[in-house]
Amino acid sequence: MRELLLPHIARVQAYASVRPPDILEEESGRERGAVKLDANENPYAPTARVREAIAAFPHLNIYPDPEQAHLRKALAEYAGLGPERIVAGAGSDELIDLLVRIFVGVGDVAVTATPTFGMYRFSTQVAGGRLVEVPRDPDDFSLDMHGLLQALQGGAAKIVLLASPNNPTGNTISRREVEALLETGRLVVVDEAYYEFSGESVASLVPHHDNLVVLRTFSKWAGLAGLRVGYGLFPQEVAATLCAVKPPYSVSTLAQAAAIVAVEDRQALLGTVRTLVHDREGLGKALAGLPGARVYPSRANFLLVRFPGRDVAALNRRLRERGIYVRYFTTPGLEDCLRISVGQPEDHRRLLVALREEVKP
Ligand code: PMP
Repeated sequence: MRELLLPHIARVQAYASVRPPDILEEESGRERGAVKLDANENPYAPTARVREAIAAFPHLNIYPDPEQAHLRKALAEYAGLGPERIVAGAGSDELIDLLVRIFVGVGDVAVTATPTFGMYRFSTQVAGGRLVEVPRDPDDFSLDMHGLLQALQGGAAKIVLLASPNNPTGNTISRREVEALLETGRLVVVDEAYYEFSGESVASLVPHHDNLVVLRTFSKWAGLAGLRVGYGLFPQEVAATLCAVKPPYSVSTLAQAAAIVAVEDRQALLGTVRTLVHDREGLGKALAGLPGARVYPSRANFLLVRFPGRDVAALNRRLRERGIYVRYFTTPGLEDCLRISVGQPEDHRRLLVALREEVKP
């Protein structure tokens, strides 16, 4: 079958995904729960109302609403834009994949600013496109606007994908930077997966530009990563095209029902977000006290920590042996870094005990 396979698909590198706690516990042979700080999930369960909506859902035998009418109405109220501009997906991952597929064909270019979320590269490769990576400032990870604008001026460039706050660096991009990118006329995708933690958004610009997309998710603030539900705020034409090409039932009935109740219950869920932001600051200070460690400022639910001159791959292995899972990157420029998701206080305590033993002066 190899010769029938599309050549660009044969070259795709699988996305480096994380694994769930039961598999991790099997691997580490531990009875004590693994400390899972590797995927920027919410360490707290969604509210009782959300869990009840899932448990009591009556129609498991019926397909979901392909038009997502109730969910889009709830999202319109939450995001302050009309439902005709909103489409939900099976996580924002599905929307990234769909957007790249409808704009980037074989030989086309997508642009991003690295280091960043790996899905942009993965989806571009699957579509047969080429990802042009414009490196961020190595000191504070700010955008190289000159480099980005230059990359977008190339004839094959169709789309620029930027996360704000960026994963794994935690910094945001400014409204001015987004406006300068919009001037190029290429599709500008601002991935606001961590919006509720930063409180910064360019959503209000969407109705004024026919080339701006904002992506959001219920995986982080609402604690619904396992249900897979994300959404985008789109120019109306792009929303209509996505609706026409997306798999009709990709957002399950349970995901739609839970997301609607999460929006209704947002005061409680945003209370948890405030706790995580508060605990992020405490964790950041404690990590900065480790010998030589540099903690980057973060507007999201994770921290990027650099351990200059240390073998961080080995440090990551030792943490794993102790049942502590954080994110290690082989990406150039991040080899001496760990990304640590904000967890519950007990997770932080176990992480810090381990790190204080492993990171000696
Ligand atoms: N965008 C960014 C920047 C992310 O970090 C993530 C999750 N790791 C996603 C999108 C994907 O989120 P979802 O669970 O909605 O697919």
